[in-house]
Amino acid sequence: MTSAQASLAAPWLWAQTLAETFAAGLDPLGVGRRQRDARLARLLDASRAGSPFYRERLAALPATARPRLVDIAPVGKAELMGRFDDWATDRRITRAGVERFLSDPARLADAYLGEYLVWTSSGTSGEPGIFVQDAPSLAAFDALDALRLRGVGTGLAPLVPWNPAQRYAFVAATGGHFAGGASIERLRRIGAASIPPLLQWLAPVIRAYSVQTPLRELARQLQAWAPNVLITYPSCAAALAQQQSEGALHLKLAEVWVGGEQLSAEQRTRIRAAFGCALRNNYGASEFFSMAWECRHDHLHLNADWVIIEPVDDRLRPVPIGSPSHSVLLTNLANRVQPLLRYRLDDSLRFVAERCPCGSAFPVIEVQGRSDQTLVLRDARGRAVTLLPLALMTVIEEGAQVTQFQLLGTGPSALELRFEATQPDPAAAFGRARGALEAYLAQHGLANVTLAHGNAAPLRQPRSGKLMRVVDRRPAE
Ligand SMILES: [Zn+2]
Repeated sequence: MTSAQASLAAPWLWAQTLAETFAAGLDPLGVGRRQRDARLARLLDASRAGSPFYRERLAALPATARPRLVDIAPVGKAELMGRFDDWATDRRITRAGVERFLSDPARLADAYLGEYLVWTSSGTSGEPGIFVQDAPSLAAFDALDALRLRGVGTGLAPLVPWNPAQRYAFVAATGGHFAGGASIERLRRIGAASIPPLLQWLAPVIRAYSVQTPLRELARQLQAWAPNVLITYPSCAAALAQQQSEGALHLKLAEVWVGGEQLSAEQRTRIRAAFGCALRNNYGASEFFSMAWECRHDHLHLNADWVIIEPVDDRLRPVPIGSPSHSVLLTNLANRVQPLLRYRLDDSLRFVAERCPCGSAFPVIEVQGRSDQTLVLRDARGRAVTLLPLALMTVIEEGAQVTQFQLLGTGPSALELRFEATQPDPAAAFGRARGALEAYLAQHGLANVTLAHGNAAPLRQPRSGKLMRVVDRRPAE
């Protein structure tokens, strides 16, 4: 059985989830809250019944009534990954089994144990996490994409995001089992494998491209495909917008969907100006793929019927509405196979007190995390070459097996790599990273660029203290 079949094996589940999500969109403070409370109760029951890790954690609480969420001790990725084999409610799921499955890139979007989709985070905060998604979780993500991705969150005018008359180009990190790539490949397989003829058109209208492709080559490939919808990171969309403005690219886009990084005001302006089309911004993570969608007022609305987000300070105490958090505690109400209850996510965000003029009662959030920078370097002939932060991060993570690093652009053709003090054997790590980076730079025509090993401590974001992984420190040209 493929994951596509697994996720559609119960069409009633898909239809019911879509109907519930639609109803919550009409009445977030009534229907949406009741759904949230019922899902939380079900998640707590499933966690206590099926997960030895959570049974232990919840046993510490008074047994008299159902535990309150705030009484449950927060958990981090390292702890869950360390106790992976005690975590899932399906006791067949083991770290060794999942890692064997993930070691084969060709199994992207295959059904693990015949029923689960598996993806890994890219390790932006320490070691990569491994996340197993069950059918209810995938149905929830599908419903959120169908009803809210395109900014129609009141649910009054649902629009199917995937349309057979359009051509979709997905540009992202490839080569690993990442959430975006696995989700797109799953959709392609739904089209290729199942439920004919309903969704057979899906596979031929979606094409995936690697964000590591040199920008000029990527532009050439995209031009050949001529998509109507571009799906990628803000930094990549902005770099392609630049190509479009300069006349090197001539895409006629109906929509650009971005996610995976923070969208800056400057990127938003540039993308809209270059492509002259709608821009859909999404906030998600490997831990919950569709946390928030953006309305027509450019405000991110939290999917509070499916995910609980508690903004907290550096000691995990709640911060008031309106104040930026140090991190957040995430409770995923959709996935019961690998429960996430008060899971610490290192994003800084702020809940906005005012109601949005768009009319949706879903809370408005502003996300401050993830501000890595795009580097523009000069090749041997002085031409500008754009390097995207997510591509650089993937090259170093995959090629050198390190996650706690910082890459700085220090001159027109100079880079510096720093490591956290916790990095074991930094000289060996630098050697591995240099090998991977030099190959990547050469592909981009940047064999002239020098790479130094910096001994200073990595720079931090001034407010959140978070590690910035790609930093532009070149003097102004
Ligand atoms: Zn709004």
